[in-house]
Amino acid sequence: MSNCLFCRIARGEIPCRKVYEDDEIIAFHDINPAASVHFLMIPKAHIVSLQEVDETHGALLGKMLTLAPRLAKEQGLDNGFRTIMNSGVGGGQEVFHLHIHILGGGRLPSMA
Ligand code: AMP
Ligand code: ZN
Repeated sequence: MSNCLFCRIARGEIPCRKVYEDDEIIAFHDINPAASVHFLMIPKAHIVSLQEVDETHGALLGKMLTLAPRLAKEQGLDNGFRTIMNSGVGGGQEVFHLHIHILGGGRLPSMA
């Protein structure tokens, strides 16, 4: 996806404050943080959202979820963290490249 914002970040065409990178995944700080620590983890491959995944994505999604606590801890979230995946228009997604929000620090408001 040539003009997808997060594909462009993954290709290094748009700068980000990087938290982590390997051959399949990149994580970077959210540009508009909703907590004192707020970063996003994305697959480098363009997947629109959780609505589009199937069993072929299982290993990648498992890798992302198991990486989340490690990166959260590295960012100082010793006390826990929140993960959010907005999927599709109905889920409030704004950037249509699958991402996991990881946020925390201080006390987060409870969620419905
Ligand atoms: P969502 O509503 O789940 O699609 O969230 C998209 C997130 O991407 C929002 O929290 C934005 O603040 C964040 N975002 C948008 N542009 C950038 C960018 N260039 N670098 C980092 N985060 C961004
Ligand atoms: Zn993309």
